[in-house]
Amino acid sequence: MTMPLPMRPGHVHCYLVPVDGGYMLVDTGLGVPEAGEAWAAALGEIDGPVVTTFLTHFHPDHLGAAADVRDLTGARTVQGRLDAEQTRLVWENADWPERLAGWFRCHGAPEEAVGELVGQGALYQPFIRTVPDPELVEAGETLHGWEIVAAPGHADGQLTLVRDGVLIAADHLLARITPTVGCWPASRPDPLGDYLGALEHTIEIAPEVAYGGHGDPISDPVGRAHELIAHHEERLRSTALALGPEPATGYEVSYPLFGADLGPSSRRFAVAETLAHLERLVLDGRAERQAVEVAGHVVHVSYTAAQ
Ligand SMILES: [Zn+2]
Repeated sequence: MTMPLPMRPGHVHCYLVPVDGGYMLVDTGLGVPEAGEAWAAALGEIDGPVVTTFLTHFHPDHLGAAADVRDLTGARTVQGRLDAEQTRLVWENADWPERLAGWFRCHGAPEEAVGELVGQGALYQPFIRTVPDPELVEAGETLHGWEIVAAPGHADGQLTLVRDGVLIAADHLLARITPTVGCWPASRPDPLGDYLGALEHTIEIAPEVAYGGHGDPISDPVGRAHELIAHHEERLRSTALALGPEPATGYEVSYPLFGADLGPSSRRFAVAETLAHLERLVLDGRAERQAVEVAGHVVHVSYTAAQ
């Protein structure tokens, strides 16, 4: 089921998987006002009930209409434990925008940009209708005969499904788009390291086909995983080259890497993505991080080339 998105990339794929007693629905799309109607029409055309809704990760385009689908189907909603925690932290937490603002300040965003960067995120809030009490699962468990496989990176707690050489990949593997991998407040410390590890794991399990959240099916998932690893190695090289002896913040480094002409939404992702690469370089010994603390709180973070 492909649902329209009012922002790039213009659509999100949700998957209906035949299971005993009906279907398992993987992801629900964004909770746009017409989502309930669109799902009612779509589900009216299938020959059985949805018995399980599985949420791959907490991004708005994947779980925004979760409550609409639950109300329509009565199906149980299943979500990873860590991902459900992050859903509450980000979408059900009045303090989150302030926390995000503090985090952008700390990484060098000038005050006039902070409001814009954070305001952008708040635009999504009306399109997110979560289910308060999902059934929690962990990687390694099975769901209707599908193995639940962790795919951290794009989202810390992102889960994919694997069975008989088929990977339902969420945003772990996309055909033409490079999934964003960023550091956000409260994200795991090394999202890019997590992502590269998850891509290696994809190469090991060697699925024959992958179905992502956006774009075409991937007929060579292993080749695509190799491409994405090479892409990030190249990005790590350019990030290292953007550093010198003078401390630079993640916000500043995002300019040479992503250019100056970005709107607030793209800049948010550019800063988060830059930080993911900078943190990986620090862990690799190819960059150094300087953190200024006041009363036990980090208030400013910058990076230099490794000495
Ligand atoms: Zn997505």
